[in-house]
Amino acid sequence: MQKISNEIEIIRQLFGSLSEKDKKTFIKSIKFQDEPSKSEAIKREITHCPHCNSTEFSKNGKVSGFQRFICKECGKTFGTRNQTIFYAVKKDMEVWKQYIHCMIEKYSLRKTAEICGISTRTAFTWRHKILDALQKMQDKVRLDGVVEADETFLSLSFKGHHKNFNLPRLAKHRGEPATRRGLSKEQVCISCGVNLNGLSISKISNLGKPKLQDIEKVLINKIQKDSILVTDSFRAYLKLAKDMNLSHIRIPRNHYKIGAFNIQTINSYHSRLKNMLIHSFKGVSTKYLNNYLVYNNFVNFAKESRSGKEQILLDHIINTECLSKSVNIANRPAVPLPQVS
Ligand SMILES: [Zn+2]
Repeated sequence: MQKISNEIEIIRQLFGSLSEKDKKTFIKSIKFQDEPSKSEAIKREITHCPHCNSTEFSKNGKVSGFQRFICKECGKTFGTRNQTIFYAVKKDMEVWKQYIHCMIEKYSLRKTAEICGISTRTAFTWRHKILDALQKMQDKVRLDGVVEADETFLSLSFKGHHKNFNLPRLAKHRGEPATRRGLSKEQVCISCGVNLNGLSISKISNLGKPKLQDIEKVLINKIQKDSILVTDSFRAYLKLAKDMNLSHIRIPRNHYKIGAFNIQTINSYHSRLKNMLIHSFKGVSTKYLNNYLVYNNFVNFAKESRSGKEQILLDHIINTECLSKSVNIANRPAVPLPQVS
């Protein structure tokens, strides 16, 4: 009999314990995984007039490709984009489509502005409007299957802040950290979890060395039960796995793997993130970092094809209530730490 690798043996054994129905679903899922995923856009349902809440309204033509409605009660008109990021934006849909293409390609603001015929300032505003909407898609992500978790660190950046901006008071810098122990408060800790299927979660959790509570703010209730959590030997994850009732594989220090399990996917997730921030965007301000994390999740890590992503993103922003206005983009905190709930 041919020798089977441990990895395949684990999958084979797990497969044997599936129900007949799950076996069929599994075979189907691996057969079709190379095909581009079809986006299943749910058209945003208009249920009432945003002016008077009346449910009596009818169609009233289209503007830049968007359906308009007229209220039979108050006589005012409204559209499907009244509560989306497109509200009060005059550019045609075709320009947004081009813009989204540039985003998926990770073009710089300058190049994007040139291609779309908009100012770099508008390009910047649109980037964050779209990423604000994308945050809402990310908030719904729940990791399942084999989930690898680890943090990564970036230096605090106040790039782009006004000259007389007051720097937040920080602890003394003590040189570059080699380990979590030596981390200074000038290092932004990003807690992350990914699965082997292209789903990912990441957010700024704290400054300096993370505690269990910091990592929990990002990952608690975001990993489905019966998942396997794979981490390095950092103790906080022991408690996290216990609190969330997950099977836990700990990779000891100076080891790459235990059996079939390793943390290579999360390591490569971190390097693609840093590569994008440094090479495509020449460093980003901590203020906007959470938005670039969802950018990385969607553009670099998710498994859909590029054209699939363009369609998914367009459908998402058209159908998502998000009142991110241009004037408010810059008003977020310089260091956006999670709110204590
Ligand atoms: Zn009305």
